[in-house]
Amino acid sequence: MRILVVEDEALIAESIKVALQEAGFVPEVVTDGDTAWFQGGTEDYAAAVLDIGLPQLDGLSVLRNWRQEKVNMPVILLTAKGSWSERVDGIDAGADDYLVKPFHMEELIARLRALVRRSGAERTPQMEAQGLILDTRQMKVSVNGAQIKVTPLEFRLLNYLLHNRGRVVSQEELATNIYYQDQEPDSNAIEVLVGRLRRKLKAKVIETRRGFGYLIDADDPA
Ligand code: CA
Repeated sequence: MRILVVEDEALIAESIKVALQEAGFVPEVVTDGDTAWFQGGTEDYAAAVLDIGLPQLDGLSVLRNWRQEKVNMPVILLTAKGSWSERVDGIDAGADDYLVKPFHMEELIARLRALVRRSGAERTPQMEAQGLILDTRQMKVSVNGAQIKVTPLEFRLLNYLLHNRGRVVSQEELATNIYYQDQEPDSNAIEVLVGRLRRKLKAKVIETRRGFGYLIDADDPA
């Protein structure tokens, strides 16, 4: 799941990036407001982490522009300590949540997970379909009760398909959402990855729709 990270301070940006990667997200870092506005308006992200103090265009203006253009992804604002007016302005501008700097990475991750969940159908850190259970907090996967060891990349793939369960996801969309920015996957990388996962899962969880992509079907409502 891709997360747009907008932060101009290199050290903070880097630690957010690392924390998000460890939590199974695919972060994309941009360092100024203009680029953020453009990226957020033209690419699909599951959420954005947006600093307020940015070069070129400040974070609040970026957010207002996004909301005016109907860019509806959940946004967490990073605000300066003690600036309650910034937070009020932020909520008015359409922020879903905010964190006061300096903050703990664990808190950012927890809030981000909650936001991404709220924008999907999830109410708990666990997602479930077709006997597959994925715990986004403990980063654990099980099928029909049996724990399965997966790599971080495999986890990101299952996470994305489960989050979009009931919808066919193309190979291109999968690749954009599970590989990091600096990774350039081979053309058959997704096929190979899915093949390997199917052998591990030992169950028919991931379906192929030839020519369209992959699907984890939603369970029928009981
Ligand atoms: Ca800043």
